[in-house]
Amino acid sequence: MAIAEQAIAEGGRDFIRDIVQADLDVKRHTTVVTRFPPEPNGYLHIGHAKSICLNFGIAEEFGGRCHLRFDDTNPAREEQEYIDAIEKDVRWLGFDWGKHLFHASDYFDRLYEWAEVLITSGKAYIDDQPPEQMRASRGTLTEPGRNSPFRDRSVDENLDLFRRMKAGEFDNGARVLRAKIDMGSGNINLRDPTLYRIVKAPHPRTGTKWSIYPSYDFAHGQSDAIEGITHSICTLEFEDHRPLYEWFLENLPVPTKPHQYEFARLNITYTVLSKRVLTTLVRDDHVKGWDDPRMPTIAGLRRRGVPPAAIRDFVRRIGVAKANSVVDANVLDFSIREALNKTALRRMAVLRPLKVVIENYEGPGEELDAVNHPDNPDAGSRKIKFGRELYIEHEDFMENPPKKFFRLSPGMEVRLRYAYFITCREVVKDAAGLVTELRCSYDPATRGGNAPDGRKVKATIHWVSAKESKPAEVRVYHPLFNKPDPSGGEGFTDDLNPHSLEIIGDARVEPALAEATNALEPVQFERQGYFILDPDSTPGHLVFNRTVGLRDTFAKEVTRS
Ligand code: ATP
Ligand code: MG
Repeated sequence: MAIAEQAIAEGGRDFIRDIVQADLDVKRHTTVVTRFPPEPNGYLHIGHAKSICLNFGIAEEFGGRCHLRFDDTNPAREEQEYIDAIEKDVRWLGFDWGKHLFHASDYFDRLYEWAEVLITSGKAYIDDQPPEQMRASRGTLTEPGRNSPFRDRSVDENLDLFRRMKAGEFDNGARVLRAKIDMGSGNINLRDPTLYRIVKAPHPRTGTKWSIYPSYDFAHGQSDAIEGITHSICTLEFEDHRPLYEWFLENLPVPTKPHQYEFARLNITYTVLSKRVLTTLVRDDHVKGWDDPRMPTIAGLRRRGVPPAAIRDFVRRIGVAKANSVVDANVLDFSIREALNKTALRRMAVLRPLKVVIENYEGPGEELDAVNHPDNPDAGSRKIKFGRELYIEHEDFMENPPKKFFRLSPGMEVRLRYAYFITCREVVKDAAGLVTELRCSYDPATRGGNAPDGRKVKATIHWVSAKESKPAEVRVYHPLFNKPDPSGGEGFTDDLNPHSLEIIGDARVEPALAEATNALEPVQFERQGYFILDPDSTPGHLVFNRTVGLRDTFAKEVTRS
């Protein structure tokens, strides 16, 4: 909790918001325009949520606007499914781009014209070197690159070849258009970067019109310039690309010159925020899909029951910095608990049932009042059924309890939540010696949970009626990776936690939860945590996902699994 509190103190304002404020103060800009620029080649994850909250949040706070722009320059990897999922997730997080939905592909004509501008002014050339040779002559961090033998082609020849590339005359990879900057530059991004590639693949939006596509670097900054983005905010790995983006802005007739600001990307312990890794997890069936609740994707978090308010709160807590760091997964869990504690209705469910027979209870049973939310009287109350046969949580009973165990044990009296005091009289076991049933007595004078003689009990435990409760499957999620810093590189699957999904097949839940089959809001199972109905549920088979436990047991869970 200390981590979360410290982060809160630093939250709110950050260096990017300070820059935006300063720009407005000196009237460098009158309207702030930001954008969130996803590449539609996968689902969004919580790292993207940081960028979304930053870009849309700044636009909101400063009365500007934020564009949603799909950076769809690579038709080979992009799919409509991802576009739809991204739009859904941004909206679900609580943001709205209004009519400002754009695509890099909207600008393909303009980008093509600008490529010709560079060729005509002698600042770009067609390179016929095979890809390996291009790579080899690029140099390294310590060695300069070597000029391509095709670097000094005439403007006319370059134009002619570029137009024929566009017309589809050459095969994939046969040649590329490169900027002519400086093969000796200390910044590898300036060593004649590729501007256009031959890719003979249909594009989701432009169909078969193009057989060449701009590189991400050539499209990205210019798209910002076309849209009049005032603050182009991206993650730190693009800091070294900034000189290249500025070179384009200087050498092209762009309508505006956006400035780029870099911030530290989000990393979280025990997971990997890399689309490449997440794509592999889905493709190779390590998880059940992009929305598997173990995934750090927005879709996965949503299915796990995490409300959007928790994600926004988390992003606010961790703040925006210029140095890379790794955020403890506990901070996210903390935000989830904070949000759900306020909203989730309370219910009772027993995950591992142990039967209790109240021997002195006569009659058909009765209804008791249970409050729906302890801090919110408006949430009202409900009736729960009490009777002779109940289930309690197996771990709330111990036959030979250690000193500090105050829950049920032979001879011990405890309170059943909202009901009565009961005392354990007898333990029934099966042939193997396992406890299968408890014979108990209750005190009818303690109805509602208080003794008129003022005597106290040390524990209150939850329960459900054996007859009225419904069976349910409960899925408990543990960290996807078994290391705080999984590699994310080659062989990353070695770091996967083989016990990340725990299925509890024979839980019992109070009937109110079965009626709520359509209610997809998370609830609190008292003393257990927060849970949400999973879409795999059918009327005859309830499935609940555990969103998060009530307490911070993260480290313990990792070592146990
Ligand atoms: P790719 O390797 O496919 O480019 P990506 O995660 O960078 O993966 P994009 O779709 O390009 O995916 O990301 C959209 C925006 O989200 C970018 O501006 C990027 O800087 C930002 N972003 C991506 N990952 C994170 C992260 N972990 N933390 C914060 N911002 C992120
Ligand atoms: Mg990217």
